[in-house]
Amino acid sequence: MQRKLRGEKKKIINKILKIIRENRTFFITSHMRPDGDSIGAQLALGSFLKRLGKEVYIANRDHVPAVYRFLSHSSDIHVVEKVERNFDVAFILDCSDLQRIGDIIDLKNRVKIVINMDHHLDCELFGDYNYVEPQASSVAEELYDLFKQSGLEMIEEEVLALYVGILTDTGRFQEANTTPRCHEIVAELIKKGISPQVVSQKVYESRTGPALRLLSLTLRTLEVTAGGKIAHLLITQDMYKETGGREDETEGFVNFARDVAGVEAGILFRETEIGDQFRVSFRSKGKIDVSKIARLFGGGGHRNAAGCTVKGNVGEVKQKILNAVSREVANTGTTEGRDSQC
Ligand code: 5GP
Ligand code: MN
Repeated sequence: MQRKLRGEKKKIINKILKIIRENRTFFITSHMRPDGDSIGAQLALGSFLKRLGKEVYIANRDHVPAVYRFLSHSSDIHVVEKVERNFDVAFILDCSDLQRIGDIIDLKNRVKIVINMDHHLDCELFGDYNYVEPQASSVAEELYDLFKQSGLEMIEEEVLALYVGILTDTGRFQEANTTPRCHEIVAELIKKGISPQVVSQKVYESRTGPALRLLSLTLRTLEVTAGGKIAHLLITQDMYKETGGREDETEGFVNFARDVAGVEAGILFRETEIGDQFRVSFRSKGKIDVSKIARLFGGGGHRNAAGCTVKGNVGEVKQKILNAVSREVANTGTTEGRDSQC
């Protein structure tokens, strides 16, 4: 099985490399509210394609979070509602379904070939070509293998972008998607000049005063229910206003809910700018599959990290979500160990 998988992987990578050789204009995008893997992967792929002489346009619905702006060319990522241009090829990165790109482009009419690169277990195979590898820690890891197979030596900014993708999607090498393979790749990246200490400072030791004040307010909302098995946190629009902290600075806040001893599922509710609507982030320990819960509400993710958007006032949304999580926790035996992060 393993050998067959490897063969298939080589084939799909070869096919993608052939498509790259035979085409000229490339569009790259990823999911709304991009994270370290989506930004790192888009920048690394963009750089690689440009070095092959291709015309590249990268665009997302939401802006690059501040902590990733140290990455070269991050300011070249366009933030737009709709891309009104035609391309030979579109790369869709880190999206388990097409809704995640937020309708940024009319793929049917504007793109000849769609390539889906993802690492979600439940990824819909929406591309003309699908390089989908659930055992990969991140899209950055999949790209590393593509670059290797191309024979083109990586340059410094690509190495850094891939490292950031793997670092953040494995939750600093703590989640269950932290495999021997991903450590091998990271060893290669460090040999090529990455300083884990410097990158960690940029990504994790760069919180702003307002963001920390927002965290402080958020922690005050902590509630633990279901006999100590579920913990949840809340961020309201008023809390953003009061502290000056921004939504894109809340990455990692949900982990504090899961950090509580004995808690099996941590939840963060974030009120959106649109009234009566909440972003819900889930993190779990062990066998609790929060992606199943997120899917019930039109979202998705991985077993131990998932998210969705739910309409309703705060009371209604909390009740719906907590009921669903309580059912899942009650139906699942607890074990140690977590699955992939992002
Ligand atoms: P976060 O809580 O960090 O926003 O999301 C955790 C993970 O859940 C993401 O990396 C992604 O895999 C998944 N996810 C979050 N929100 C959504 C959503 O609205 N739809 C889908 N399909 N997946 C989501
Ligand atoms: Mn990812």
